[in-house]
Amino acid sequence: MDQEPEIYTEPVLPKYNLTADQEKNEIIRHYRALLRFLRPKLKRGDKELVRQAFEMAAEAHKTMRRKSGEPYILHPIAVAMICVEEIGLGVRSTICALLHDTVEDTDITLEDVEREFGTEIAKIVDGLTKISSVIDTNTSQQAENFKKILLTLTDDPRVILIKLADRLHNMRTLDSMKREKQLKIASETVWVYAPLAHRMGLYSIKTELEDLSMKYMEPEAYREIARKLSETKRERTRYINEFIRPLKEKMTAGGFNFEIYGRPKSIHSIWNKIKKKSVAFEEVYDLFAIRVILDSSPEKEKEECWKVYSMITDEYTPSPERLRDWLSNPKNNGYEALHTTVMGPQGKWVEVQIRTKRMNEIAEKGLAAHYKYKEGSSDEDRFDKWFGQIREVLSTQETDGVDFLQDFKTSFLAEEIYVYTPKGEVKMLPTGSTALDFAFSIHSAIGTKCIGAKVHHKLVPISHKLRSGDQVEIITSNKQRPSEDWLGIVVTAKAKSKIKDALREEKRKVAEDGKYTLQRKVEAMGAAYNQHNIDELVQFYKLPSPLDLHYKIATKAIDLKELKEFQVLGDRIEIPKPKPVIHEVHTDHFQQKNNPKGKDSELIIFGESSDKIMYTLGKCCHPIPGDDVFGFVSTGKGLIIHRINCPNAAQLLANYGHRVVKTKWAKNKEISFLTGLKIVGLDDVGVINKITNVISGDLRINISGLIIESKEGMFEGTIRVFVHDKEELEILVSRLKSLNGIQTVDRFDTEN
Ligand code: MN
Repeated sequence: MDQEPEIYTEPVLPKYNLTADQEKNEIIRHYRALLRFLRPKLKRGDKELVRQAFEMAAEAHKTMRRKSGEPYILHPIAVAMICVEEIGLGVRSTICALLHDTVEDTDITLEDVEREFGTEIAKIVDGLTKISSVIDTNTSQQAENFKKILLTLTDDPRVILIKLADRLHNMRTLDSMKREKQLKIASETVWVYAPLAHRMGLYSIKTELEDLSMKYMEPEAYREIARKLSETKRERTRYINEFIRPLKEKMTAGGFNFEIYGRPKSIHSIWNKIKKKSVAFEEVYDLFAIRVILDSSPEKEKEECWKVYSMITDEYTPSPERLRDWLSNPKNNGYEALHTTVMGPQGKWVEVQIRTKRMNEIAEKGLAAHYKYKEGSSDEDRFDKWFGQIREVLSTQETDGVDFLQDFKTSFLAEEIYVYTPKGEVKMLPTGSTALDFAFSIHSAIGTKCIGAKVHHKLVPISHKLRSGDQVEIITSNKQRPSEDWLGIVVTAKAKSKIKDALREEKRKVAEDGKYTLQRKVEAMGAAYNQHNIDELVQFYKLPSPLDLHYKIATKAIDLKELKEFQVLGDRIEIPKPKPVIHEVHTDHFQQKNNPKGKDSELIIFGESSDKIMYTLGKCCHPIPGDDVFGFVSTGKGLIIHRINCPNAAQLLANYGHRVVKTKWAKNKEISFLTGLKIVGLDDVGVINKITNVISGDLRINISGLIIESKEGMFEGTIRVFVHDKEELEILVSRLKSLNGIQTVDRFDTEN
């Protein structure tokens, strides 16, 4: 019963030096195998349609070959086979899979497909054609493509399922590609397709995609783990049998119909554990899990799973924190099961997964199986809900592709937590969600007025990170207004876009006053309040738009006293040469210029204010909280904050000691500061992924800019990130340094 997964050793490529007749037979053989799997699903007339699709595709691809030398048509047949056998899709999807590369690569047009097979199939093939150009991408192109995939996906989920089958077959046959392409396709697979498969509930496909990607991206680590797994197989099998024996006896005596077996964890997941916990292979305790699959009647499913649970925990002591009940609360992607970890023989922890045949099919085939079981049930559909959420975000989001992809990954592809309203209604949110995310998930009007929350009756701030099982009550105030720093508190795309909307709206309202003030002052100078003059002023104050100018005037961040020095010629304002701008700020109320290239300057204002004080952050050393700093009273620019180790510090302290003011940072976790890192390392296709994974994935730090340049096998990257304080920056630096191939990571202080 021990089901060791296939270890993906180098496959021997078939030599395609077959005669034309032999080749034809080979194609027919594959096609017949496909039909055999499809047979139970064929209704009257279907067989003819499938045949027609096959012939159309075979004819269209007849002169084409894959990189391995085999006839191209074997690829669409294989993709169709995966759709039927591994995902459980039906006749329509088979036809689409057979045709999936025709419109893109051959003379067949979408009109041809529509004429022969109707609009439903034409639409899916169109979706597949639109998302086929994902090879040869840079990060933003990749993100754009992904956005396209999602737009099509929400039309018909079959598009994404067939696309996953296509990707899986391409990954299985990646050996014949050039190394560079292998790396590109593999990193894209890990980054987008594996999480998507996971979200669709296709666990086996997700695992295989990850393992195959790892095989190309980290070949040594992959081979090492595969080798160790196979070396320890005999020992493991013995242990699994010893573990299973008493359970088998009990369950048989209890009259259950069941299967029980040990299943090794994937190479990729073992590798993740080795990296995350920095342990050796030998120390990873859960190299396998025990799976119990019950053949239960629908009404007895839950009861029998719990009965088996109790039999297992009678035999072996369970770890109380490790019980996962996805029977009562299935995951968003439809997954249902009971997981527990128990103390097995020799004091080893062993994970046991209990599920029924139906649940197992959903776990393996995901969405498609889910739809099959949904028929006739009035259950609210989780996938429909999920698609609905995606659609909502897609329709409101205006951000660029990269931002979008990041938001999407955290909102829709992350594991979810379950939290409850005071009335006991369950809400699903991505891991890392805060009280504020929860507030926005209820309603945007509750989100924008949220001032805090009660979790299990205890008062917590809006930034409080929620955990599964929390019961959350939101506290609102009519005086509350969203602020810029809220964007750093939330992880859900919905909350983010609603906050952005609210900020824009708020800014527009406030700016009205500033506009009026400006108009009055400009006209008092004898100049006209026209576009030319407004543009001049926007430029003078180095602002991105008139809206920002009006806003800053309204909030008195700009006092317009410079206007007196301007000349007026006719109705035109003549601007003298630019002067530095001083921003008025408050203590406990930091401002930071986000000014990467000397344009698009933008102020970020945080928190509540008490005493007013004017200061700016030294441009020479860009201090952030936690740095040792001092204040320097400058002539004309107010107080300037420098780091103690600023290149100018020694000279300032030595020569102008009387102008130095002692300063220190107030603790405030809600405030982010922009800082820069310079990274040097070996050029590797996966490097951007690794870096961005650490920054925004693991540490959830916001990236403001990322430039990677590679030269002669090396790369040099500059990254601008928002960090809360020095401590966070230090963690980030040490995490980046620990990545493979990274040589140095240094903070940089100067303006580019
Ligand atoms: Mn294809």
